[in-house]
Amino acid sequence: MTACRFVVGLCAILLTSALGAAPARVEAIRVAEYDSKTRVVLELDRSQNHSLLVLENQPRVVVDISSGSLRASLPARGTGIVRSMRHAQHQGGELRMVFDLHVPATASSFAIGAGGANERHRIVIDVFPRGGEPNAAERAHSAQDGRDVLVAIDPGHGGKDPGAIGRNGSHEKTVVLGISLRLARLIRKEPGMQAMLTRDGDYYLKLRSRYELARQRNADLFVSVHADAIRDRRIRGSSVYVLSEKGSSDEARRLAQRENAADLIGGVQLHEYPPTVATMIIDLQQNASIGASLEVGDQVLQHLHGVGRVRKSSVQKAPFAVLKAPDIPSILVETAYISNPQEERLLKTAAYQDKLARALLTGIRSYFYANPPRGTLIAKRVEAGEVPRQQYVARRGDTLSGIAQRFKVPVPALIRANKLPDDRLRVGQILDIPAS
Ligand SMILES: [Zn+2]
Repeated sequence: MTACRFVVGLCAILLTSALGAAPARVEAIRVAEYDSKTRVVLELDRSQNHSLLVLENQPRVVVDISSGSLRASLPARGTGIVRSMRHAQHQGGELRMVFDLHVPATASSFAIGAGGANERHRIVIDVFPRGGEPNAAERAHSAQDGRDVLVAIDPGHGGKDPGAIGRNGSHEKTVVLGISLRLARLIRKEPGMQAMLTRDGDYYLKLRSRYELARQRNADLFVSVHADAIRDRRIRGSSVYVLSEKGSSDEARRLAQRENAADLIGGVQLHEYPPTVATMIIDLQQNASIGASLEVGDQVLQHLHGVGRVRKSSVQKAPFAVLKAPDIPSILVETAYISNPQEERLLKTAAYQDKLARALLTGIRSYFYANPPRGTLIAKRVEAGEVPRQQYVARRGDTLSGIAQRFKVPVPALIRANKLPDDRLRVGQILDIPAS
């Protein structure tokens, strides 16, 4: 897959930002430190192409803006991993900005178009210390114990694109960010699991930038979180989608059209891969990852049964642009219907957002326990028999003996594995299924 990786890398550079030949002025520079990364935001008066280069020997990130000038003053002090900043104006109008770093790093960038009246064009550069996020889980085990699996969480929509809007005015972009932030927190508490967010605030992100971010960090899974809307306000429940190029139902196609339309809002053009490159990448890897995506989707759907209604009891296929990362298993979860007044009310509550996030977590965890990527801590723990390969979420009408029968394990083993005080179950309860 080296060739494909190379092509993908090339595309990432071609993808960066848009349009105009007129020079852009960098009018403001913001640098902020997060748990996992340092983010530099350049605010521009117009959109302009940029490219990103990461150097390892003398750790630094170089951003070239094809035609631009610096109007903002550079921060006097470093922030996070960025030690200092400098710039150079090249002949031909190119503006080079250099961020010197404390340690070797990886970096990714994306451009955001101007949205509301006060918003400017932005180039966002995320710089990650090499080796990923130094969180508690990682500090607790060394590299030889196996790496963490990385889950890329993608809260749908954002900024000028609110997504679906409920009757009481709730925005999809807001509730799905809430669910996603909760999910990221839960994942980071799991041994052997790590999370990244494609967006962690209310800003607009192109669909392709979303999975490019996941790919640049070598994510093991991509989960796009949404809330659906439909004219018939009685309809409710969750659905899980994976990518299909064709052969999807009419309803799935309509939904995909609406979710994909986000990229055209505000006149921002989709940047397509050159067709020949696109075909090659997709042919190489898409089929393999759709199989894995179906498996994750299945697990997540099973666990969503424990939360509320599930609209479609099997994983659906639709041509979502955001799921087109050819080499990462990807699912899109429509958590509930924001158009249904009852679900709109629930979606806004911390309790329901938490329930959904927990269902997503357990679905994702079950998938990784059943299919641990080689070289990960989870793979080692599964091999050592330290963690169960399977989990089950209790549904209405389930009994302990019924579940024991289904998985061919004795009831007492089920009780012991889950430290149950008695044989009563509650709906949504997660049971570890011990090896039979
Ligand atoms: Zn959506």
